[in-house]
Amino acid sequence: MTTPLTTTNHDRDVAGLKYVYPVLSRRAGGLSVGINFNTNNACNWRCVYCQVPDLIKGAAPDLDLALLEEELCFFLNDVQRGNFYQRFQVDADYRVIKDIAISGNGEPTSVKNFAQTVMLIGNLATKLEILPTSRFVLITNGSLIHQQKVQDGLKALHGFGGEVWFKFDSATKEGRAIINETTQSVKSSLENIRISSELCTTKLQTCLFDYAGQGWLVKEKLAYLEALKIISATPEVKEILLYTLARPSMQPEASQLAALLPDALNAVAEEIRQLGFKVSVAC
Ligand code: SF4
Repeated sequence: MTTPLTTTNHDRDVAGLKYVYPVLSRRAGGLSVGINFNTNNACNWRCVYCQVPDLIKGAAPDLDLALLEEELCFFLNDVQRGNFYQRFQVDADYRVIKDIAISGNGEPTSVKNFAQTVMLIGNLATKLEILPTSRFVLITNGSLIHQQKVQDGLKALHGFGGEVWFKFDSATKEGRAIINETTQSVKSSLENIRISSELCTTKLQTCLFDYAGQGWLVKEKLAYLEALKIISATPEVKEILLYTLARPSMQPEASQLAALLPDALNAVAEEIRQLGFKVSVAC
């Protein structure tokens, strides 16, 4: 018997496909069609809160475009015309495709033929009349956006009315080393945010959490708000999603991490709003 798909079931193998997986999103109020290029669980960052099991450092492997097309075509038809919702016992209220999200077990823009994959997904979803009604989203740490092949992908995403959700957790060198295990400078991230926003609608996503019982450090908060002041000069970036830990980290630091309380997140959100951004909070 098929396991019911619920808002707490985030098993990426649930549909039995290599690149495509369904997620029921309580926040979005429907089905998110996830696309995973990083089938090797490889990312160029290692965030302490990352939920990818057996995460390794590296890039996405070569992608089988024909298989991706076949899987996506099968899956979207199954959802729209088949009995997907019945098989997975999806609540009637959630029986709608809210978004197609390029979001995998690693950094998706590290795949070699990134622009081609965006075109393939966008064209297919348009043909099946899922786009432009549903959203087309790229979830990225933004670290490779200085590369031409990624910029070509963002232009393609923009052509389908898509949006980039750009990870920006820390604006200090130390914080980025500890939280994201990256040596990429804050300056580089800010530059990539600027490039991204010029090519495609770009929103920031920031994960705030308690690490080793210290809460969100004051110096981190001050640096983050200062960075947002710089970003606010880029009028294209208008929106920030604040979130905290919803599911357990699969990294060795997991036992030292805890979610921030809704009051704390909401207080930060208010300060960010004062800088002119629209802020949504996912607790
Ligand atoms: S960028 Fe995403 S996939 Fe990569 S380590 Fe961080 S949370 Fe995991």
